[in-house]
Amino acid sequence: MERLSAQLNNRRTREFDEVVAPLERRSRKALDGDGLDDCLAAFAENAEGFAWRADAALARTKYKNSLGLLVKMVRAGEHRVPPAAPSVADVNPSTGCTHGNCIGEEACLYA
Ligand SMILES: [Zn+2]
Repeated sequence: MERLSAQLNNRRTREFDEVVAPLERRSRKALDGDGLDDCLAAFAENAEGFAWRADAALARTKYKNSLGLLVKMVRAGEHRVPPAAPSVADVNPSTGCTHGNCIGEEACLYA
């Protein structure tokens, strides 16, 4: 199954797969559609920066949807900037705040 989809999607290289596969396993889905297109473009543009952000997305264990987080980072252009720069991963998608303890919470714990 996995091999078949890899053959069908010949735009994905082995190098790209190695970066993305752990996030697909965590998210329990395949990277496809616009997210795949954006990630392929980011990988072509800056493979090292893309890999940094993929690692960062995996490290945010409170986000089960690692792929969604990576796509968000890529769309914010974070594959082009040093890893220490502020990341969209530090913004709570529900509350918009940047407290680490609030990631995954419905409301800001400090509001
Ligand atoms: Zn907060």
